[in-house]
Amino acid sequence: MKRELIVAIDGPSGAGKSTLSKLLSRTLGYVNIDTGAMYRSVALASQRCGVDLNDEAALGQLARSVDIEFVRQDASEKVLLNGEDVSEAIRTPDVSLLTSRVSACREVRQAMVDLQRSMGERGGVVLEGRDIGTVVFPAAEVKFFLGASASERGRRRYEELKVKGLEVDLEQTIAEVEARDAADTAREHAPLVQASDALVIDSTSMSIEDVLQLMVETASERRREAGLTVGVAGEAP
Ligand code: C5P
Repeated sequence: MKRELIVAIDGPSGAGKSTLSKLLSRTLGYVNIDTGAMYRSVALASQRCGVDLNDEAALGQLARSVDIEFVRQDASEKVLLNGEDVSEAIRTPDVSLLTSRVSACREVRQAMVDLQRSMGERGGVVLEGRDIGTVVFPAAEVKFFLGASASERGRRRYEELKVKGLEVDLEQTIAEVEARDAADTAREHAPLVQASDALVIDSTSMSIEDVLQLMVETASERRREAGLTVGVAGEAP
């Protein structure tokens, strides 16, 4: 039986993955899976229960025991950790840094990859993260690698945090983005790398609309090749 596509969007932090993955999934009528939010939720859970970050087995056990869900509420998407809405709590700068540490743990990655595969294997999904096209779904029909210069990504993150009313410094935010890039690229397990068959998009000087259009066109083309004939919103007839 034909199934809808699995779409992977990988790339470093602040490249616009979350925004685009939400827009693309809505346009295609697909489910959106923010895998960064899953690692962030495990990091928040570890902080709350004071797990020793050097204890890989305990971290892995925690990752397997938490319940992570995505729900669409009105126009926004919420992340629930054991039923609690943690959408805001997982986005603070200290949880971001902690997440890089927690996500480097092999046991945690295995637990999250298993969960992501079970959420996405039936297709009709857009997954955004760092290792979707390389590790989680290496056979995904559509793969994007979305990048932008570190200073542009830092500037975007800075604007986001400022809008939320957080006290932030631009230089420090850029430095944090660079530090997270370095940690995500250098880690031993599933480091951030481009899949060789991914379409690489540099969003430094592209608008969101332009990137979205390119993504919709690419996915629509792949749907046609796969013989999926019912059109999607935003697609040329
Ligand atoms: O995408 P986001 O910035 O929310 O991701 C937070 C962190 O989660 C990243 O810095 C990275 O350490 C980790 N992550 C990962 N693998 C993924 C998604 C996120 O290691 N697939």
